[in-house]
Amino acid sequence: MKNIAIIGGGASGMVCAIVASQNKNNTVTIYERGKRVGKKILATGNGRCNMTNIYADISRYHGEDTSFINYATDNFWVGETLDFFSELGILYKVEDEGKVYPYSDQASAVLDVLRLKLEKNGVNIVTGFEVKDIKNQGNGFLISDYNNRCQKADCVVIATGGKAAPDLGSNGSGYNILSRLGHHISNLSPSLVQIKTAGDIPKKLKGIKVNAAVTLGENQETGEVLFTDYGLSGPPVFSLSAYLDKNSKISLDIMSEYSRTDIESLLKERISKNPEILLEDFLVGVLNKRVGQVIIKDSGIYPLSRLASTLTDKEISDLADKIKHWEFEITGTMSWNNAQVTKGGAKTREFNPQTMESRLIKGLYAVGEVLDIDGDCGGFNLQWAWSSGYLAGSDLGGMNK
Ligand SMILES: Cc1cc2nc3c(=O)[nH]c(=O)nc-3n(C[C@H](O)[C@H](O)[C@H](O)COP(=O)(O)OP(=O)(O)OC[C@H]3O[C@@H](n4cnc5c(N)ncnc54)[C@H](O)[C@@H]3O)c2cc1C
Repeated sequence: MKNIAIIGGGASGMVCAIVASQNKNNTVTIYERGKRVGKKILATGNGRCNMTNIYADISRYHGEDTSFINYATDNFWVGETLDFFSELGILYKVEDEGKVYPYSDQASAVLDVLRLKLEKNGVNIVTGFEVKDIKNQGNGFLISDYNNRCQKADCVVIATGGKAAPDLGSNGSGYNILSRLGHHISNLSPSLVQIKTAGDIPKKLKGIKVNAAVTLGENQETGEVLFTDYGLSGPPVFSLSAYLDKNSKISLDIMSEYSRTDIESLLKERISKNPEILLEDFLVGVLNKRVGQVIIKDSGIYPLSRLASTLTDKEISDLADKIKHWEFEITGTMSWNNAQVTKGGAKTREFNPQTMESRLIKGLYAVGEVLDIDGDCGGFNLQWAWSSGYLAGSDLGGMNK
């Protein structure tokens, strides 16, 4: 019989608890600092929970050594996860770019089925218990919280999440706990987050959305970009924020369906058809009016009261360049409060990829975002949480032996 303590009742912790408690000889307890488990799940996918992605593979993950996820991708990945949730009662649907959602479009459905199963399996849930420290006693662990309450366990799973979105529970405490136990933590930074840029152009266009192919270094994502008073937001920007390390510029192609040559011809044709049009109206019907005015100015063309027919070949060429490659200098990201995920975490080489057990301390496990694995936007992070939680739970339940 094993007494198992799971620290954190988020996505990974709940799945781990369900699987570990399938073995009726185990006593499984979740210690959760919040008032209830799974608060973050309710916020995922804009309240719809993008629970996984049918195209999830290693290329969508980041970390010092992403090969750490290979065992999970071979043994408990998208198909197995969907079977697991189907068993619990979730009918799912696959949307654009392989994103999977519950058919009901309710993140609460995902949380409900997990909670019901925890209850059915007899998992103890202790809420309002914020673990401060864990001592390795050689033959088990002593867990203490901020109110000096202590609990003993034979095995402990750190499922505390990362530092992103602390309002939803994960405040980074898992890193402190793990590092006091001797584990090493790589550099942490907010990811899947809005990007701050220099200059006042995004501010001038605040609130306007454009469809664009967005490029950061070698990576490109297409989708809706939102201009804000601090810089750029929207799904492609979120996704690309995972690649910020080496890049200081981000660029938008706001007419990605058209080639550079086609745009130049289109601009010339517009002038010949309507030579009297002023520059301030020149791109009306092609781009958002305000975007059109701002991009003309940013191409070095002014005043906007000029006739479009006065544009020189060089100016037309510069404008076409700008439409295809509107570059912004990156000055940083928004804070942890705005981020969806943490880049960096507990170094994976110190854990067994088949079980998530620490290689330094027997009986200690870490799952989910607290490990140095983060995924792109689109269901990849929850997939890692489910998979790592499942593998640790299987090991604790004795299913791997
Ligand atoms: C707004 C938002 C939307 C998102 N949408 C998606 C999406 O649609 N698809 C997707 O794949 N990913 C999404 N993500 C990312 C995904 O939710 C996380 O990567 C995933 O939840 C991580 O799971 P986890 O179990 O590791 O941690 P979490 O789900 O963060 O759970 C950690 C739990 O541990 C508790 N805890 C922390 N410290 C302690 C402590 N010391 N003692 C006790 N309890 C503690 C926390 O309160 C929390 O309940 C989103 C994230 C955010 C913020």
